[in-house]
Amino acid sequence: MTRRIDTYLRDLVSEDKFDFYEVVRDFSDAEVGSKILEWERSHTLVPDDCIAQMGELGLFGLPIAEEYGGQGGDHTDLVLMGLAMAYHSQSVAITPGAAISLGAKPLQLCGSEEQKREHLPDLAAGKRMFAFGLSEPGRGSDAANPEVTARKDGDEWVINGEKCWATNAAWSSHVVVHAMTAPDNPNGKRSTCLIVPMDAPGVHYQEMSGKKVWEQSSTGSIIFEDTRVPASAILGEENEGFKVMVTTLNGGRLFIAALALGSLAFALDKCRVYANERIQFQNKPIARFQRVQDVLIDMDIALERNLAWLMHCCRLYDEGRLAREQAAKVKVDSSRAASDLLVMAMEMCGGVGGLDEFGLIRHHNDLFVTRVGEGSNFALKDLIVRPLQA
Ligand SMILES: Cc1cc2nc3c(=O)[nH]c(=O)nc-3n(C[C@H](O)[C@H](O)[C@H](O)COP(=O)(O)OP(=O)(O)OC[C@H]3O[C@@H](n4cnc5c(N)ncnc54)[C@H](O)[C@@H]3O)c2cc1C
Repeated sequence: MTRRIDTYLRDLVSEDKFDFYEVVRDFSDAEVGSKILEWERSHTLVPDDCIAQMGELGLFGLPIAEEYGGQGGDHTDLVLMGLAMAYHSQSVAITPGAAISLGAKPLQLCGSEEQKREHLPDLAAGKRMFAFGLSEPGRGSDAANPEVTARKDGDEWVINGEKCWATNAAWSSHVVVHAMTAPDNPNGKRSTCLIVPMDAPGVHYQEMSGKKVWEQSSTGSIIFEDTRVPASAILGEENEGFKVMVTTLNGGRLFIAALALGSLAFALDKCRVYANERIQFQNKPIARFQRVQDVLIDMDIALERNLAWLMHCCRLYDEGRLAREQAAKVKVDSSRAASDLLVMAMEMCGGVGGLDEFGLIRHHNDLFVTRVGEGSNFALKDLIVRPLQA
């Protein structure tokens, strides 16, 4: 069976890019699709050997320049990887995805030459990762004014407070901490980003418990108690930390849209096969019922439309022309359309839709994260409406 997503992507990207997508797709089928249920049932995070295999395939270094050990690719490559990997598991896809678009990206965008040379080669090889420390227990959408503080003491900075929801924390050597450094400055110029080793004195990490979404992805809470770092730990400029964070998130939102569409692509294929096999009422496959067809049609339309839109946004991003609201719009719409349709997809299949081995419930749960992660859809509408008010 040809996947619907493959039919569309073939016309949307160059032959080279489609060849690359096929390599990742085949890896994902062999190493994730066949194992994800076992990992889910045993409640394990992405296993180390899977991370090592993704590293060998170059997935952690896709858009990192070759001079820093990466593949020298672009954001389109990253998004194609997200589509291919999320078809089986968003949790696995987000591991290299966040390692690049939240971990390595701030370094690529704002790091000094010394910082890049010290960290990017290991990050590109997947040997270690960087976590993105923006969210806090008291600061989610309202992230510009962190409660985590960094105070200057001689040549050092002293950090206190707590970050949460830090993806990949379990595998991270460092976390980029967004900390309040100048509370009296104007909004947007009060915070600084600092690169903090996870094994520095006063850093306490634990995996967040009770998370029923992205179950194989590591999500950490990180507490800082008088943690000291040198002045050279500043990423970007002092008191320009919010700019570092916001610039990073633009590309990350395209990756979140890719996760949503990877899930939708899986659901569409699963449902069309099932609808033709499942017989009810006088030997008719349920695919003959118009209301079942409507669900398949709606999924197919949403997939083709949003893939074309996402690839358009990737092209603009790679040319340095993507506006913040454009990244926000494709993320909001892809996550909303895919998660709304997943409910219909499960209903269309009847009771089996709720079984873990059928696969839809995993995508249904994971799609929730695409609605709130990297800017919740509600909050992102504040950005999207701005050009309409001009
Ligand atoms: C699995 C997972 C992984 C994550 N990984 C990371 C990570 O690696 N690093 C990181 O820093 N963060 C991470 N996050 C955090 C994520 O970015 C936040 O959850 C998100 O920013 C929303 O913040 P919040 O959950 O505190 O919700 P809140 O900000 O408390 O929002 C609650 C509700 O209020 C609405 N709301 C808030 N502000 C507005 C507004 N202005 N207009 C309209 N409605 C509004 C929201 O849409 C939401 O419905 C992760 C989250 C999850 C679930």
